[in-house]
Amino acid sequence: MRELLNCVDVYPFGQFCALGVTAGAHRLWSHRSYKANLPLRIFLSILFASCKQHDIYEWVRDHRVHHKYSDTYADPHSIKRGFFFSHIGWMVTKKPKEVHTKFEKLDLSDLENDPVVRFQKKYFNIWSTFWCYIVPTFIPWYFWNEDPWISFCAVAVARQGLILHYAWSVNSIAHRYGNKPYDRNICPTDDKIYAILALGEGWHNYHHAFPWDYRSSEIGGFKYNMTTSFIDLMGKIGWASHFKMATTEAVKKRAESKGDGSRIQYVGLINGS
Ligand SMILES: [Zn+2]
Ligand SMILES: [Zn+2]
Repeated sequence: MRELLNCVDVYPFGQFCALGVTAGAHRLWSHRSYKANLPLRIFLSILFASCKQHDIYEWVRDHRVHHKYSDTYADPHSIKRGFFFSHIGWMVTKKPKEVHTKFEKLDLSDLENDPVVRFQKKYFNIWSTFWCYIVPTFIPWYFWNEDPWISFCAVAVARQGLILHYAWSVNSIAHRYGNKPYDRNICPTDDKIYAILALGEGWHNYHHAFPWDYRSSEIGGFKYNMTTSFIDLMGKIGWASHFKMATTEAVKKRAESKGDGSRIQYVGLINGS
């Protein structure tokens, strides 16, 4: 029974850690959609390390190329290469030449100038192993006498696996299944269920239409866009600032001229009801 409870607890803890990916590597470092002070950048880099994906530099490099060449053969996880490839295949195969050519043309000087990113890149293996495996195993064992083997399997490994699949699903599910309220001519989609599960990253059609918008959607609220709620909270305590947002008028215009007409389904959620 205790093992089962642990597995259930892993889910919200995993979501909390995933903020390092969504609010950190994605909305802050990849898109510069808001500014974060040093304590917040350090905090996000720890959460991100606890997910043990790539280091921030590599993650951002892949993601910037993904946006620039989305769904072409220069996209590192192009859905055009198949669902499996976009989900996990791209992680276990060599990147094609087209992708490497685009990497060379990217300007990543903002990352090179950020000491938090530089530190994380330099000590990535030891840093991410510490936060992803050692800390989540140690805390339940030390503070509430959990079996260390259960801590390791549930809180470290299962949690990491869960977050990895959520992140990969943005590249696979959110590039194939769902509505296209803001641009019907691109692959990325919006999906309510996936948005809840992925902390607001499932509004992916909006995100590709307005990648610099820190909200990644017109729809906010803790349930449908936990990442935006977290960034707003950081703004309230003065750790985040300079939020970039599309105007309601620009969003409406875009939906009317390029969308598939499905925005109407979300009007209640957009207005917060
Ligand atoms: Zn995408
Ligand atoms: Zn993005």
